[in-house]
Amino acid sequence: MSGGPSPHEASDSRKARARCLHRRVVRYLGLDVSGGRLTLLLAALFASQAAVAAPRDFEGARHRMVQTIETLAKGVPLSSGRQEIDASILAAMRQVPRHELVPEGVRNEAYEDRPLPIGHGQTISQPYIVALMTQLARPAKHHVVLEVGTGSGYQAAVLSPLVAKVFSIEIVEPLARQAGDRLRALGFENVSVRHGDGYKGWPEHGPFDSIVVTAGASHVPEPLVEQLKPGGRMVIPVGGAAAVQHLTLVEKDEAGRVHTRSLLPVRFVPLTGENTR
Ligand code: SAM
Repeated sequence: MSGGPSPHEASDSRKARARCLHRRVVRYLGLDVSGGRLTLLLAALFASQAAVAAPRDFEGARHRMVQTIETLAKGVPLSSGRQEIDASILAAMRQVPRHELVPEGVRNEAYEDRPLPIGHGQTISQPYIVALMTQLARPAKHHVVLEVGTGSGYQAAVLSPLVAKVFSIEIVEPLARQAGDRLRALGFENVSVRHGDGYKGWPEHGPFDSIVVTAGASHVPEPLVEQLKPGGRMVIPVGGAAAVQHLTLVEKDEAGRVHTRSLLPVRFVPLTGENTR
Protein backbone atom coordinates (compact mmCIF):
# COMPACT_ATOMS: atom_id res chain seq x y z
CA MET A 1 0.00 0.00 0.00
CA SER A 2 1.32 3.45 -0.82
CA GLY A 3 1.96 5.89 2.11
CA GLY A 4 -0.25 8.87 3.14
CA PRO A 5 -3.13 9.60 5.50
CA SER A 6 -6.13 7.31 5.86
CA PRO A 7 -9.37 8.56 4.14
CA HIS A 8 -10.70 9.45 7.58
CA GLU A 9 -7.65 11.57 8.54
CA ALA A 10 -7.69 13.27 5.11
CA SER A 11 -11.34 14.32 5.51
CA ASP A 12 -10.61 15.73 9.03
CA SER A 13 -7.70 17.81 7.76
CA ARG A 14 -9.82 19.11 4.80
CA LYS A 15 -12.52 20.22 7.28
CA ALA A 16 -9.89 21.97 9.43
CA ARG A 17 -8.46 23.78 6.39
CA ALA A 18 -12.00 24.83 5.32
CA ARG A 19 -12.72 26.17 8.86
CA CYS A 20 -9.46 28.10 8.80
CA LEU A 21 -10.19 29.54 5.33
CA HIS A 22 -13.70 30.50 6.46
CA ARG A 23 -12.27 32.38 9.52
CA ARG A 24 -9.77 34.21 7.29
CA VAL A 25 -12.40 35.22 4.66
CA VAL A 26 -14.84 36.35 7.38
CA ARG A 27 -12.09 38.44 8.99
CA TYR A 28 -11.02 39.84 5.60
CA LEU A 29 -14.58 40.80 4.57
CA GLY A 30 -15.55 41.96 8.06
CA LEU A 31 -18.60 39.65 7.98
CA ASP A 32 -20.32 37.74 10.75
CA VAL A 33 -21.89 34.80 8.95
CA SER A 34 -21.96 31.01 9.22
CA GLY A 35 -20.09 28.76 6.79
CA GLY A 36 -23.24 27.98 4.75
CA ARG A 37 -24.32 31.61 4.46
CA LEU A 38 -20.79 32.66 3.57
CA THR A 39 -20.75 30.12 0.75
CA LEU A 40 -24.07 31.53 -0.53
CA LEU A 41 -22.79 35.10 -0.28
CA LEU A 42 -19.58 34.28 -2.14
CA ALA A 43 -21.53 32.38 -4.82
CA ALA A 44 -23.80 35.42 -5.35
CA LEU A 45 -20.76 37.73 -5.45
CA PHE A 46 -18.95 35.58 -8.02
CA ALA A 47 -22.14 35.19 -10.10
CA SER A 48 -22.64 38.97 -10.27
CA GLN A 49 -18.97 39.48 -11.19
CA ALA A 50 -19.29 36.84 -13.91
CA ALA A 51 -22.42 38.56 -15.27
CA VAL A 52 -20.53 41.87 -15.50
CA ALA A 53 -17.54 40.25 -17.17
CA ALA A 54 -19.44 37.89 -19.53
CA PRO A 55 -19.55 39.12 -23.12
CA ARG A 56 -23.14 39.85 -24.22
CA ASP A 57 -24.49 37.31 -26.70
CA PHE A 58 -24.92 39.85 -29.52
CA GLU A 59 -25.28 37.15 -32.17
CA GLY A 60 -28.14 35.46 -30.34
CA ALA A 61 -29.80 38.84 -29.77
CA ARG A 62 -29.42 39.64 -33.48
CA HIS A 63 -31.12 36.38 -34.47
CA ARG A 64 -34.00 37.11 -32.10
CA MET A 65 -34.30 40.63 -33.60
CA VAL A 66 -34.68 39.10 -37.07
CA GLN A 67 -37.37 36.70 -35.78
CA THR A 68 -39.26 39.73 -34.41
CA ILE A 69 -39.00 41.44 -37.82
CA GLU A 70 -40.40 38.34 -39.57
CA THR A 71 -43.32 38.23 -37.12
CA LEU A 72 -44.06 41.95 -37.54
CA ALA A 73 -43.88 41.71 -41.33
CA LYS A 74 -46.62 39.07 -41.26
CA GLY A 75 -48.81 41.24 -39.00
CA VAL A 76 -48.34 44.91 -40.00
CA PRO A 77 -50.77 45.87 -42.79
CA LEU A 78 -49.51 48.50 -45.23
CA SER A 79 -52.11 50.25 -47.37
CA SER A 80 -50.91 47.94 -50.17
CA GLY A 81 -51.31 44.79 -48.03
CA ARG A 82 -48.87 42.85 -45.88
CA GLN A 83 -45.24 43.04 -46.93
CA GLU A 84 -43.05 40.03 -46.22
CA ILE A 85 -39.30 40.61 -46.08
CA ASP A 86 -37.08 38.70 -48.53
CA ALA A 87 -34.76 36.04 -47.13
CA SER A 88 -31.72 37.91 -48.52
CA ILE A 89 -32.62 41.03 -46.49
CA LEU A 90 -33.18 38.99 -43.32
CA ALA A 91 -29.82 37.28 -43.93
CA ALA A 92 -28.12 40.68 -44.24
CA MET A 93 -29.71 41.78 -40.97
CA ARG A 94 -28.47 38.60 -39.28
CA GLN A 95 -24.94 39.60 -40.29
CA VAL A 96 -24.66 43.37 -39.72
CA PRO A 97 -23.25 44.09 -36.23
CA ARG A 98 -25.72 46.82 -35.27
CA HIS A 99 -24.10 47.05 -31.81
CA GLU A 100 -20.86 48.26 -33.47
CA LEU A 101 -22.71 51.21 -35.04
CA VAL A 102 -24.42 52.65 -31.95
CA PRO A 103 -22.91 54.60 -29.04
CA GLU A 104 -21.31 52.54 -26.24
CA GLY A 105 -24.07 53.53 -23.78
CA VAL A 106 -26.87 51.85 -25.80
CA ARG A 107 -24.96 48.82 -27.11
CA ASN A 108 -26.85 46.39 -24.92
CA GLU A 109 -30.13 47.62 -26.47
CA ALA A 110 -28.85 47.45 -30.05
CA TYR A 111 -31.00 44.46 -31.00
CA GLU A 112 -34.27 45.65 -29.51
CA ASP A 113 -36.82 46.53 -32.18
CA ARG A 114 -36.90 50.27 -31.58
CA PRO A 115 -35.02 53.43 -32.55
CA LEU A 116 -32.06 54.43 -30.36
CA PRO A 117 -30.29 57.75 -29.82
CA ILE A 118 -27.01 58.16 -31.73
CA GLY A 119 -26.13 61.68 -30.54
CA HIS A 120 -26.64 65.14 -32.12
CA GLY A 121 -30.41 64.74 -31.56
CA GLN A 122 -30.54 61.94 -34.15
CA THR A 123 -31.59 58.28 -34.06
CA ILE A 124 -30.87 54.92 -35.61
CA SER A 125 -34.16 53.66 -37.06
CA GLN A 126 -36.22 50.74 -35.71
CA PRO A 127 -34.90 47.48 -37.26
CA TYR A 128 -38.34 46.48 -38.63
CA ILE A 129 -38.59 49.83 -40.45
CA VAL A 130 -35.06 49.36 -41.86
CA ALA A 131 -36.13 45.92 -43.14
CA LEU A 132 -39.33 47.32 -44.63
CA MET A 133 -37.62 50.27 -46.36
CA THR A 134 -34.97 47.92 -47.76
CA GLN A 135 -37.70 45.59 -49.03
CA LEU A 136 -39.62 48.45 -50.65
CA ALA A 137 -36.44 49.64 -52.39
CA ARG A 138 -36.27 46.16 -54.04
CA PRO A 139 -32.47 45.91 -54.03
CA ALA A 140 -30.68 43.81 -56.67
CA LYS A 141 -27.03 42.83 -56.95
CA HIS A 142 -26.31 45.24 -59.85
CA HIS A 143 -28.09 48.24 -58.28
CA VAL A 144 -26.59 51.59 -57.34
CA VAL A 145 -28.48 53.06 -54.37
CA LEU A 146 -28.57 56.50 -52.78
CA GLU A 147 -29.34 56.87 -49.09
CA VAL A 148 -30.21 60.27 -47.63
CA GLY A 149 -29.56 60.38 -43.86
CA THR A 150 -26.59 58.08 -43.08
CA GLY A 151 -26.99 58.53 -39.30
CA SER A 152 -25.27 55.53 -37.69
CA GLY A 153 -24.55 53.85 -41.04
CA TYR A 154 -26.80 50.87 -40.22
CA GLN A 155 -29.22 51.18 -43.16
CA ALA A 156 -26.25 51.56 -45.54
CA ALA A 157 -24.62 48.46 -44.00
CA VAL A 158 -27.80 46.41 -44.50
CA LEU A 159 -27.99 47.53 -48.15
CA SER A 160 -24.28 46.85 -48.75
CA PRO A 161 -24.37 43.05 -49.40
CA LEU A 162 -27.57 43.34 -51.46
CA VAL A 163 -26.43 45.83 -54.12
CA ALA A 164 -23.36 46.86 -56.12
CA LYS A 165 -22.83 50.30 -54.55
CA VAL A 166 -24.34 52.50 -51.83
CA PHE A 167 -23.86 56.28 -51.77
CA SER A 168 -24.99 57.82 -48.51
CA ILE A 169 -25.24 61.50 -47.50
CA GLU A 170 -25.44 62.86 -43.94
CA ILE A 171 -26.02 66.51 -43.05
CA VAL A 172 -24.49 66.32 -39.53
CA GLU A 173 -20.74 66.37 -40.16
CA PRO A 174 -19.52 64.37 -37.10
CA LEU A 175 -22.11 61.65 -37.81
CA ALA A 176 -21.01 61.44 -41.46
CA ARG A 177 -17.35 61.12 -40.42
CA GLN A 178 -18.06 58.55 -37.70
CA ALA A 179 -20.34 56.38 -39.86
CA GLY A 180 -17.85 56.48 -42.75
CA ASP A 181 -14.99 55.42 -40.43
CA ARG A 182 -17.00 52.64 -38.78
CA LEU A 183 -18.33 51.23 -42.06
CA ARG A 184 -14.81 51.18 -43.49
CA ALA A 185 -13.42 49.48 -40.36
CA LEU A 186 -16.18 46.85 -40.53
CA GLY A 187 -15.35 46.10 -44.18
CA PHE A 188 -18.39 47.58 -45.96
CA GLU A 189 -16.23 48.58 -48.89
CA ASN A 190 -18.99 49.35 -51.40
CA VAL A 191 -20.44 52.15 -49.22
CA SER A 192 -19.35 55.77 -49.74
CA VAL A 193 -20.45 58.36 -47.19
CA ARG A 194 -20.23 62.10 -47.55
CA HIS A 195 -21.25 65.10 -45.51
CA GLY A 196 -23.83 67.30 -47.21
CA ASP A 197 -27.47 68.14 -47.82
CA GLY A 198 -29.12 65.03 -49.23
CA TYR A 199 -32.10 67.03 -50.49
CA LYS A 200 -29.98 67.79 -53.53
CA GLY A 201 -29.01 64.14 -54.01
CA TRP A 202 -25.60 63.14 -55.35
CA PRO A 203 -25.95 63.86 -59.09
CA GLU A 204 -22.34 62.87 -59.95
CA HIS A 205 -23.26 59.23 -59.18
CA GLY A 206 -26.87 59.20 -60.39
CA PRO A 207 -29.22 58.22 -61.76
CA PHE A 208 -29.95 55.65 -59.06
CA ASP A 209 -31.86 52.36 -59.16
CA SER A 210 -33.33 53.25 -55.81
CA ILE A 211 -33.22 56.02 -53.22
CA VAL A 212 -33.87 55.51 -49.50
CA VAL A 213 -34.56 58.66 -47.48
CA THR A 214 -34.40 58.07 -43.72
CA ALA A 215 -35.59 61.47 -42.46
CA GLY A 216 -39.13 62.89 -42.63
CA ALA A 217 -39.60 65.35 -45.50
CA SER A 218 -42.44 67.85 -45.93
CA HIS A 219 -42.52 66.91 -49.63
CA VAL A 220 -40.71 64.62 -52.08
CA PRO A 221 -37.54 66.51 -53.13
CA GLU A 222 -37.60 67.19 -56.86
CA PRO A 223 -33.81 66.69 -57.29
CA LEU A 224 -34.22 63.14 -55.92
CA VAL A 225 -37.05 62.38 -58.36
CA GLU A 226 -34.79 63.61 -61.17
CA GLN A 227 -31.95 61.34 -59.99
CA LEU A 228 -34.17 58.23 -60.02
CA LYS A 229 -33.74 55.91 -63.04
CA PRO A 230 -36.78 54.97 -65.14
CA GLY A 231 -38.08 51.84 -63.39
CA GLY A 232 -36.52 53.11 -60.13
CA ARG A 233 -38.07 53.31 -56.65
CA MET A 234 -37.73 55.85 -53.85
CA VAL A 235 -38.82 55.15 -50.25
CA ILE A 236 -39.32 58.29 -48.17
CA PRO A 237 -41.24 59.34 -45.05
CA VAL A 238 -43.37 62.33 -46.07
CA GLY A 239 -45.18 64.64 -43.67
CA GLY A 240 -42.67 66.91 -41.97
CA ALA A 241 -41.80 67.15 -38.29
CA ALA A 242 -45.12 68.25 -36.78
CA ALA A 243 -47.51 66.45 -39.16
CA VAL A 244 -48.26 62.73 -39.34
CA GLN A 245 -45.66 61.22 -41.63
CA HIS A 246 -46.36 58.44 -44.09
CA LEU A 247 -43.84 56.04 -45.48
CA THR A 248 -44.22 56.76 -49.17
CA LEU A 249 -43.21 54.79 -52.25
CA VAL A 250 -42.34 56.85 -55.32
CA GLU A 251 -42.01 54.81 -58.52
CA LYS A 252 -40.75 56.13 -61.83
CA ASP A 253 -42.03 54.00 -64.69
CA GLU A 254 -40.06 53.19 -67.83
CA ALA A 255 -41.70 56.16 -69.58
CA GLY A 256 -40.52 58.49 -66.80
CA ARG A 257 -43.98 58.96 -65.24
CA VAL A 258 -43.99 59.22 -61.45
CA HIS A 259 -46.46 57.31 -59.24
CA THR A 260 -46.70 57.96 -55.51
CA ARG A 261 -48.31 55.75 -52.84
CA SER A 262 -48.65 56.33 -49.07
CA LEU A 263 -48.08 53.03 -47.27
CA LEU A 264 -47.81 53.36 -43.49
CA PRO A 265 -47.86 56.06 -40.78
CA VAL A 266 -44.34 56.45 -39.34
CA ARG A 267 -42.31 58.83 -37.18
CA PHE A 268 -38.84 59.96 -38.29
CA VAL A 269 -36.57 62.84 -37.30
CA PRO A 270 -37.04 65.68 -39.79
CA LEU A 271 -35.15 66.20 -43.02
CA THR A 272 -33.24 69.42 -42.40
CA GLY A 273 -31.39 71.80 -44.69
CA GLU A 274 -32.13 74.96 -46.58
CA ASN A 275 -34.84 73.46 -48.83
CA THR A 276 -37.10 71.96 -46.18
CA ARG A 277 -40.12 73.73 -44.77
N1 SAM B 1 -30.32 55.69 -41.75
C1 SAM B 1 -29.90 55.98 -40.42
C2 SAM B 1 -29.34 54.79 -39.69
O1 SAM B 1 -29.37 53.68 -40.23
O2 SAM B 1 -28.84 54.99 -38.58
C3 SAM B 1 -30.98 56.62 -39.59
C4 SAM B 1 -31.01 58.02 -39.81
S1 SAM B 1 -31.83 59.12 -38.77
C5 SAM B 1 -33.42 58.48 -38.58
C6 SAM B 1 -31.99 60.42 -39.98
C7 SAM B 1 -30.71 61.05 -40.39
O3 SAM B 1 -30.95 61.96 -41.44
C8 SAM B 1 -30.05 61.86 -39.28
O4 SAM B 1 -28.77 61.41 -39.03
C9 SAM B 1 -30.07 63.28 -39.83
O5 SAM B 1 -28.97 64.05 -39.42
C10 SAM B 1 -30.06 63.04 -41.31
N2 SAM B 1 -30.55 64.15 -42.13
C11 SAM B 1 -31.55 65.02 -41.87
N3 SAM B 1 -31.69 65.89 -42.89
C12 SAM B 1 -30.77 65.56 -43.82
C13 SAM B 1 -30.40 66.10 -45.08
N4 SAM B 1 -31.03 67.16 -45.61
N5 SAM B 1 -29.39 65.50 -45.76
C14 SAM B 1 -28.74 64.44 -45.23
N6 SAM B 1 -29.01 63.92 -44.04
C15 SAM B 1 -30.03 64.46 -43.34
